[in-house]
Amino acid sequence: MIASTHLTVGAAVGVLSYRYVLKTDSIWGIGWVVAAGIVSHFLLDMIPHSEEELYRPSGAEQWMPIILSLELGLTFLAIYFCGAKSWSANYQNTCLMAGMMGGALPDMPHVVINTLKVNWQWLQTIDQVNVFFHTSAHVNSLWWGFTPQVLITALSLTVLCFFKIGLI
Ligand SMILES: [Zn+2]
Ligand SMILES: [Zn+2]
Repeated sequence: MIASTHLTVGAAVGVLSYRYVLKTDSIWGIGWVVAAGIVSHFLLDMIPHSEEELYRPSGAEQWMPIILSLELGLTFLAIYFCGAKSWSANYQNTCLMAGMMGGALPDMPHVVINTLKVNWQWLQTIDQVNVFFHTSAHVNSLWWGFTPQVLITALSLTVLCFFKIGLI
């Protein structure tokens, strides 16, 4: 799945965990939230989807860094405006960040291996776990490949907005 989907779902999982599972501030809660974010990553990757058309338009590899950077910038802004609860540090924001990190974590070995061109065995092993959970069904239709990801991203941002302004 595209980075926006993993990050926004992770952030929403973090806030939901805080409100419904942890309820109080605790250092152990952060570990719980990171783990929940990682689980959300694997569950999302099981849904048939496609990210190739966004990251490698017409099969070209060279646009990937700029497209990903733009996407990440927009995603962080969207999560910040939808989810960050006031300027001061608070536990809900901490959980949001922890969930977001957990959601991104399983894709990190892949990014490190490709950008730094390293070949470390332990990174490869973690990457294999990510690949294991990733669906092998590649959706060829641009519409069906992207619609679920866009909808899930929009839904997660909506959840963040509701919890930020305290409607839930
Ligand atoms: Zn994928
Ligand atoms: Zn993944």
